[in-house]
Amino acid sequence: MSNEINKKKIAILGSTGSIGTQALEIAREQSDKIEIEVLTANSNADLLIKQAIEFKPNHVVIADESKYLYVKDALGQKDIKVFAGSKAIADLMEITSADIILTAMVGYSGLLPTIKAIENKKKIALANKETLVVAGELITELCIENKVSLIPVDSEHSAIFQCLVGEDLNTLDKIILTASGGPFRGKKREDLLAITKKEALKHPNWNMGAKITIDSATLMNKGLEVIEAKWLFGVENNQIEVVVHPQSIIHSMVEFNDGSIKAQMGLPDMKLPIHYAFFYPERTKSSFKRMSFKEINNLTFEEPDLETFRNLALAYEAMKIGGNKACILNAANEIAVAAFLEDKIKFLQIAEINEACMNKVFFIQKPSLDDYINTDSEARRFAKTLIQ
Ligand code: NDP
Ligand code: MG
Repeated sequence: MSNEINKKKIAILGSTGSIGTQALEIAREQSDKIEIEVLTANSNADLLIKQAIEFKPNHVVIADESKYLYVKDALGQKDIKVFAGSKAIADLMEITSADIILTAMVGYSGLLPTIKAIENKKKIALANKETLVVAGELITELCIENKVSLIPVDSEHSAIFQCLVGEDLNTLDKIILTASGGPFRGKKREDLLAITKKEALKHPNWNMGAKITIDSATLMNKGLEVIEAKWLFGVENNQIEVVVHPQSIIHSMVEFNDGSIKAQMGLPDMKLPIHYAFFYPERTKSSFKRMSFKEINNLTFEEPDLETFRNLALAYEAMKIGGNKACILNAANEIAVAAFLEDKIKFLQIAEINEACMNKVFFIQKPSLDDYINTDSEARRFAKTLIQ
């Protein structure tokens, strides 16, 4: 068989973001093994065009329709089909010949394309955790129905996934998600009253997109990851524990019924879990920087502070209640984080808005896809009324 036939055909949804650009670095390094079929962005047309010229995908989508002609003019002569609009990203899942879809767009925008990709039996490399937070039950059912696997890209979930390879899931007692604690670890509410956007955007260990960086500072990110873990690994709520581990070397752990604990470690570099997801079930050589135990002399662990970082407690509550609660929390949080990034609200108001929305927006125990879509818009609408 020729090498061309063996190449992994990958679609990168959100190619201009932090995860998307790191995925393309891997594609560049492993160009004999990876072929890029699809690239998509929201509005960063210039970077999308540059990526398309280098990686020569069959299809490119710019969600912002006002940029369509600009992208089309730049790529039209290059045998690359250009589409525009959010719906086009989802529709493309029906026609693309990609076999792996990396969902690296941010927030709720990942939901419909991921559903379409699953319905078209694509393997999903899941970075967009919000999809599982919004509609975990529905996505899990769809995956079973279509015999599709979700390979986690989130570093914690990749760690857990790697620890579970070859294990009997019935012997799993506990998942221990590690959290860096973010830039405000150890601070109390009164210390957080006057936090600026600049301070919140400075993560100690990871360089990520703006939304997830703020989520890491409020511990919402860990809350979303708790819910993500529930659906990915099919565990009960009380089997998921969070421990703060500021060095971000242990990416997460699993504990088995004999008391044995497995951890996956490495430098905090998202290229590692992206690379693993692309090549799973194989491991492939990479040139990533190696971790040296000579340079690491202290791994520490502490309890998360649920009073100061209310969002983590809210996520636990949403998970316990089930139904559309986590969808409400996610939508409220997207609006609140965007407002914080626009200097319209203060840092501590993010959790306050989330909580108010969880209490106010209608509850549905077993939501359909339409119910999730309606919940998302209602939660956004209500959250906006709380922001001047
Ligand atoms: P970024 O904000 O850096 O990038 C987001 C990407 O999605 C960009 O390509 C952006 O396009 C595109 N996008 C944004 N909004 C839309 C929309 N409405 N429709 C279509 N495309 C859109 O995010 P990250 O790369 O940091 O995160 C991506 C996902 O991965 C998130 O779900 C995050 O939680 C998850 N994740 C990220 C990690 C990280 O290290 N960054 C770690 C673990 C998980 P444009 O550039 O044009 O705006
Ligand atoms: Mg993570």
